[in-house]
Amino acid sequence: MKIAPISEELFQRAQNSIPGGVNSPVRAFRAVGGNPRFMVSAKGPYMYDEDGNRYMEFINSWGPMILGHAAEVVQEAVQQAIPNSLSFGAPTRKEIEIAELIVDMVPSIEKVRMVNSGTEATMSAVRVARGYTGRNKMIKFEGCYHGHGDSFLIAAGSGAITLGVPDSPGVTQGVAADTLTAPFNDLEAVKTLVEANKDQVAAIILEPVAGNMGLVLPAPGFLQGLRDLCTKEGIVLIFDEVMTGFRLAPGGAQQLFGVTPDMTTLGKIIGGGMPVGAYGGKKEIMNFVAPAGPVYQAGTLSGNPIAMSAGMAMLQYLQSHPEVYTTLEQTTTNMVNGMNQNMQELGLNFTINHVGSMFSIFFTSQAVTDFESAKTSDTAMFGRYFNSMLQRGVYLAPSQYESLFVSTAITDELVQEYIKANGEALKEAL
Ligand code: PLP
Repeated sequence: MKIAPISEELFQRAQNSIPGGVNSPVRAFRAVGGNPRFMVSAKGPYMYDEDGNRYMEFINSWGPMILGHAAEVVQEAVQQAIPNSLSFGAPTRKEIEIAELIVDMVPSIEKVRMVNSGTEATMSAVRVARGYTGRNKMIKFEGCYHGHGDSFLIAAGSGAITLGVPDSPGVTQGVAADTLTAPFNDLEAVKTLVEANKDQVAAIILEPVAGNMGLVLPAPGFLQGLRDLCTKEGIVLIFDEVMTGFRLAPGGAQQLFGVTPDMTTLGKIIGGGMPVGAYGGKKEIMNFVAPAGPVYQAGTLSGNPIAMSAGMAMLQYLQSHPEVYTTLEQTTTNMVNGMNQNMQELGLNFTINHVGSMFSIFFTSQAVTDFESAKTSDTAMFGRYFNSMLQRGVYLAPSQYESLFVSTAITDELVQEYIKANGEALKEAL
């Protein structure tokens, strides 16, 4: 049983000087109740809080820590880079090397620009798509999350839906009018939207595997259908692979599903735990980015040498260890099989979606294929389940509308521990 009086005290204190006590909303545990735990260190599969509690964890800092926490290969690269300077604000060899590596790894990327977060990547990619096509509108999917740029906070998933603000106040009607939305996996709805807005749609952006309404897989033919539609209509297809990039395969979901978009946005794993994002795509499109072209986008700390060193070490490791992906998939499958076994024993019929090292449990017996079906999950039960797992030392994402991530630090022994905790927590949460 984990108790956390120091975290509780810190959370009270934090609320005096930080809105809601946290620097990113879902961390506040609002959707699941209870107090967030304040962390002091992490290693491998574990995080340790201020009260000395240890948690086996499946957030991986919301995705980046695919090799577990404090992976030596990344830590060493950072330590080596530090003495040379924390930032130059001038070009470095490392930026070319990481760009070349990304071009090599991600099928759709011929040229790439580094930024500092996934949000910057998606905002910039859409601006470039608009500059390139000379059109204003964008289509996104209900329940997909593309960071907190104004134009994406329409029917948004992740923290926005967790806090009940899928359409955030502060986004002007003018901006909202240029964002069209369709249900995920509904190709016909997209075709209808495109037809109704003929020659006005600059971009279709989506998470090729949606991870921000819980995990939702693309239906067979959905990605290819979008690809064909965009080609036919001169629309820029953008895969937001901030979450799936380097996680589902070295080349991301586009490699796994064999569908190549025009542009790709990246984040999370690309920085190995440092604040990095990137967007890239066809040369013809990326040549619109300043100073090669007229679309403006810049960043004081973009291409930061420490962040590039961390990212480079992470990507090089993943490229040279493709077995990581088979191992992760096996570990995740073992976890999911164990969870299904738990449910069978308890006579339950909840839905678990998984692919590669991503998974979600939904407290509904419906198949979850889009935002509407994701929202049939019993979120009160999710809250009870989350807290039962936390008490057993298993730290999950504190919201139904997130994917869980498995790292290579999760051993077979830990899988068994996880399955045992899951069985007990399910029973307790009923
Ligand atoms: N796109 C996707 C698919 C994401 O999952 C996220 C963050 O979770 C973002 C964009 C935004 O990235 P960041 O939080 O680094 O701004």
